[in-house]
Amino acid sequence: MQDQLEQLNPQQRAAVEAVDGPVLVVAGAGSGKTKVITTRIMYLIHKGVSPYQILAMTFTNKAAQEMRERIERAVGSDARDLTITTFHSFCAMFLRREIGYLDRDSNFVIYDTSDQTSCLKRVIRNMDLEEKNYPAQRLRSRISYLKNAGDLGGELNNPVEQLIYKNYQEELLAQNALDFDDLLHLTCQILERWGEVQQRYRHRFEYIMVDEYQDTNQIQSKLINLLLNEQHNLCVVGDEDQSIYGWRGADITNILHFDKNFRNTRVFKLEQNYRSTQSILDYANAVINKNKLRKPKKLWTAAGEGLPIIIKDEYTASIEAENIIQQIRSLSRNNNLAYNQFAILFRSNALSRVLEETARRYRIPYQLIGGLKFYDRKEIKDLLSYMRIVVNPRDWTSFVRALGVPTRGIGAKSQDKLYSYFEEGSPIPDVMARAIKDKRLSGKGMKGLKEFQILYRDLVASAETDKPSEWLKKLVDRLDYQAYLEKLDITTTDSRLDNLQELMTGMLEQEAQGVTTLSQFMDFSALVSDQDDLNPDEPRVNMMTVHAAKGLEFDTVFVVGLEDGVFPNQRALDDNPNAVEEERRLFYVAVTRAKQRLFLSYARSRQTYGKTVRNIKSRFLLPPKTGADSGPLPEKPRKPSPWGDSATQQKRLTLQMERLGVDARQIKKTFGKSEDGDELHLEPGDRVEHASFGEGTVSVVMGQGAQRKVSVRFPGKGIRTLLVIKAGLKKL
Ligand code: ATP
Ligand code: MG
Repeated sequence: MQDQLEQLNPQQRAAVEAVDGPVLVVAGAGSGKTKVITTRIMYLIHKGVSPYQILAMTFTNKAAQEMRERIERAVGSDARDLTITTFHSFCAMFLRREIGYLDRDSNFVIYDTSDQTSCLKRVIRNMDLEEKNYPAQRLRSRISYLKNAGDLGGELNNPVEQLIYKNYQEELLAQNALDFDDLLHLTCQILERWGEVQQRYRHRFEYIMVDEYQDTNQIQSKLINLLLNEQHNLCVVGDEDQSIYGWRGADITNILHFDKNFRNTRVFKLEQNYRSTQSILDYANAVINKNKLRKPKKLWTAAGEGLPIIIKDEYTASIEAENIIQQIRSLSRNNNLAYNQFAILFRSNALSRVLEETARRYRIPYQLIGGLKFYDRKEIKDLLSYMRIVVNPRDWTSFVRALGVPTRGIGAKSQDKLYSYFEEGSPIPDVMARAIKDKRLSGKGMKGLKEFQILYRDLVASAETDKPSEWLKKLVDRLDYQAYLEKLDITTTDSRLDNLQELMTGMLEQEAQGVTTLSQFMDFSALVSDQDDLNPDEPRVNMMTVHAAKGLEFDTVFVVGLEDGVFPNQRALDDNPNAVEEERRLFYVAVTRAKQRLFLSYARSRQTYGKTVRNIKSRFLLPPKTGADSGPLPEKPRKPSPWGDSATQQKRLTLQMERLGVDARQIKKTFGKSEDGDELHLEPGDRVEHASFGEGTVSVVMGQGAQRKVSVRFPGKGIRTLLVIKAGLKKL
């Protein structure tokens, strides 16, 4: 333990050792707030406190897991009895045990936001109200906000909305479901009403700690107060500059007034940053200094200057993704960095598709944290199930899925009948033909199957003649898929259609790169099963939203999509200066995740929802040498090449060569001679060096793959046309 304490600076150590009574630690990013909590827990155990009596609340599951692992490394199996958890998980655990007090069954289900919305929609329908006058999505977030703010009886717009709210709660009850907000609310309710329960928990948790306290809301702070016994052994840590959940009801006064709410609070300020290099810290400080609503804070580091921050001005989002993935590959090789030391952060999950695809194409393992993978989404899986059975008429799982989209009256029993043919070895087209001939299904199911058979034949024929994107369009039209989605849940239709557009965009991009058939497209997207093949222990590049990255740190961080309207997002720009300040705090969170290297990028055009949108760089971007206002960028934007973009060209060629079974090493050789992944991109105008001709200027790039040639003008030696793979050119 002495070791652990000696690692700390005097302020940290004082905060760790101040175990009795209320303690507040406020400090900037990377100053060791979380470390204080972790070490404090070890210290308590060391002093003989039972791990069973310690409760630590974190903001994300990942943060909880990391904290537990750290403590486990130091104290071993004692760590098992600790309660380190998020607020929601804590409440879920509590209610599984105690919900009986409310006469409810502990088998309750927990509804996520989309379940909540469907439930509300049903309520609105039952009330014979028009959904358009009472949009479920809006009501959902309003209700959630009210519940979070702890204002359950709170004002909704009018009596009808209040009735919707009441009926919604009843509907949840009837289905034995809880929404996320109920988890907290009901926990508080039980603790408030049943003194014996409260006593039990108060007695149990002698020491309570809360990380990221700046983002707690009223109901969370109420929960903590209910759990706290008269000793007030509560330690909270936070940073106002990282408050990023105002939109969800977080209440910054929880941290600002903590010392007023708890008399005798001891306050500790930490000023040394241990995470980042001087350049990253300078940049972060300059970013957050632009906010008006803040108290100035000191933060310094003993780490050296470090590497400069790189700002990339990219033409398109796919080039942005391509460059990042290549950068990760070469940094990982050259610096012996495992893939999990990299993080790619974005403002919203919609930005992940192109990054995921690029990573997959380069066979770089990645994990998307806190979001459904694009190809795992229902609407994408629905349509891909059709694609799969067209490509592979033995894919029974996809067949069953496709049969149900839209519903065709073929239930479990009918499926069993069909399956008996399949079991005998018939592929799907034969299964259908035989079942129809034998009249195995009746009524609605038969009609559904016949229709499906016709659709299937047409789709197979279309796949032979049409481009994948045309095929997809036909499918969507034939299924009347939009109407199906609307019937399913009008409130999620828009976002699902957006995802469909994304799928279409992905296909068009692939077609532009030479993909002509559905099966090629499926190979490319590699779908979900590709992920299953990956070794789960293999380190992966982390991709996540900035919100999900809170509290985490990585050697190298890429923040993408730094464009006005994306980050800060349009809603904030349309809203008010406070919303922009919250977005800027989010940007501050993003840049302060980096330890060694920080790459910031924006794309001049981005395909969003199937449309090309032109953007300008984010107002948050400062020049890498900080201090001045957003001025000219140091990086010269790349000129578009009249011969096509070299990155795109290379992407297409790689794909084709892989299809032809060309060895990966050979492909690499084609694009560059060095082993470190630093590929040779050549464009007209580039300066190159040749072993015998000396220096020259590229005038033309032509051909593909192993046949790629360049014409280079060597002063005094004329123009030479060289085979790239053989010439051994060095780019200057
Ligand atoms: P954030 O505001 O992002 O949540 P934080 O204040 O919680 O950051 P930590 O994550 O606890 O900061 O610490 C940042 C990094 O600095 C971690 O890698 C941690 O191990 C390291 N660190 C903290 N204190 C010290 C110290 N005294 N000596 C060495 N390393 C330290
Ligand atoms: Mg932290």
